[in-house]
Amino acid sequence: MDLKSNHPAPVLTDPVPISKSRLGIHSSLLPYSPGAAFSSGMYIAIPRKKVIPSKLDDVRASGWLDAMKSSSPPRKKLTKDTSIDVGPDDSQLVYLSWMLKYPSAISSFERIMNYAKGKRIALFLDYDGTLSPIVDDPDRAFMSDSMRTAVRNVANYFPTAIISGRSRDKVHEFVGLTELYYAGSHGMDIVGPVRPSGNDDNNSNCIRSTDKQGKEVNLFQPASEFLPLIDEVFSSLVEITKGIEGAKVENNKFCVSVHYRNVDEKNWTTIAKSVHEILKGHPRLRLTHGRKVLEVRPVIDWDKGKAVEFLLDSLGLSECEDVLPIYVGDDRTDEDAFKVLREGNRGYGILVSSVPKESNAFYSLKDPSEVMEFLNSLVRWKKSKI
Ligand SMILES: [Mg+2]
Repeated sequence: MDLKSNHPAPVLTDPVPISKSRLGIHSSLLPYSPGAAFSSGMYIAIPRKKVIPSKLDDVRASGWLDAMKSSSPPRKKLTKDTSIDVGPDDSQLVYLSWMLKYPSAISSFERIMNYAKGKRIALFLDYDGTLSPIVDDPDRAFMSDSMRTAVRNVANYFPTAIISGRSRDKVHEFVGLTELYYAGSHGMDIVGPVRPSGNDDNNSNCIRSTDKQGKEVNLFQPASEFLPLIDEVFSSLVEITKGIEGAKVENNKFCVSVHYRNVDEKNWTTIAKSVHEILKGHPRLRLTHGRKVLEVRPVIDWDKGKAVEFLLDSLGLSECEDVLPIYVGDDRTDEDAFKVLREGNRGYGILVSSVPKESNAFYSLKDPSEVMEFLNSLVRWKKSKI
């Protein structure tokens, strides 16, 4: 496994561009006919603010702010029932045209299941914004009991893993189920099954362990050498942001999150500058953007996409033609997993979003309640086949 650094310095991520490789996808995987739906002005251009350089710092600050804003689109509630008297507004029309490109995984369920016939489905789920609603206090991002039941049911029928940016312990505590696998810190902290071949001895980042139920598991932590550095940076970030009202710093073990959901927008530049100030002294760390959160991560060639590949391999499913991985997530970090599934023509990414976004996913779901509906449909489909 190649864990070499590929980022020499802290970087800001940009909105995910549409890859030309989209056209190279195996047509049987595509949810729409290439060139048909978006051939006549249906394409949504996401405007980018043009920066006129004056002073370097101003440009940087403006770039930070742009990145923070584009990563954190406003939550939009779309009503399910459209009145006959009042037509849909512009944002609804834009959303509906966006859905031509990223169709609903619920209305396309039959199509997805037709492709899944004779295949084993493996399910990967993000947590925040996917299984739980995005809330003001990240410590209170609880999932509902009905969602927990849906996840338990689905995990009883399909190999299921949750891959979150949170610490593994934290996401396990939120979900509270033993029927599935957990990967924390964006996949940098995985507890997975012991490979069927049992051949992990050549990987120094793999440790055989026993979970609380006494089951033998494989602990994989590719960024373990970064632990002391992450702790140090966590303390520095707590210190440097303590004067910014509403800022919250979370230690996710192998990465640190700086939440600015409750920070007044006029202070977003201050928070970005503070984080960049800390990163200046740590070239082995980089910055990524999530929804109202800045994330400081080790510079290693590892992400949620790699975590999906690792888990498929651990499950003994990586070399099989008859496997259909499905990944459901709402964030930029989930794009790495969508990309792995798309580029390998392997499976489906499903983006959870109530606003149009460019994505490497194939399908979309509007919010966690639709995710639950999709999971319940998977269970009903599987039961009908037994
Ligand atoms: Mg998320």
